[in-house]
Amino acid sequence: MAADCIFCRIVAGTIPATKVFEDEQSLAFRDLHPATPVHVLVIPKEHIASTAHAVESHASLLGHLMLVAAKVAEQEGLAKGFRLVANTGADGGQTVDHLHLHVLGGRSMTWPPG
Ligand code: AMP
Repeated sequence: MAADCIFCRIVAGTIPATKVFEDEQSLAFRDLHPATPVHVLVIPKEHIASTAHAVESHASLLGHLMLVAAKVAEQEGLAKGFRLVANTGADGGQTVDHLHLHVLGGRSMTWPPG
């Protein structure tokens, strides 16, 4: 756990969040400022600053997060599709330095992103 990390505090339960899924390795909760009708963040409980900070030993955890994201999408009724986003670093638009997948859905989306 990183002491100054908002998402570590959510994992620890010291900051509230609307959880939609949890298991030993991961947590999924609703984004505070939803960009789409469904907007859930899937995070590892372990503090990893970003996808750029992940190492080989995180491979199965990263795969697990993708599977959790798909499970959350199904649970949220996103049968028509959804978008998974992992903003990474300043140019990637990352604002919280704890690796997370955005599960975005509930409307059709355009490409490329801004
Ligand atoms: P990113 O910009 O990719 O780093 O995404 C960070 C996301 O975390 C943003 O969409 C924020 O709205 C969301 N966020 C920040 N603080 C919280 C919080 N306490 N609970 C839920 N979502 C949050």
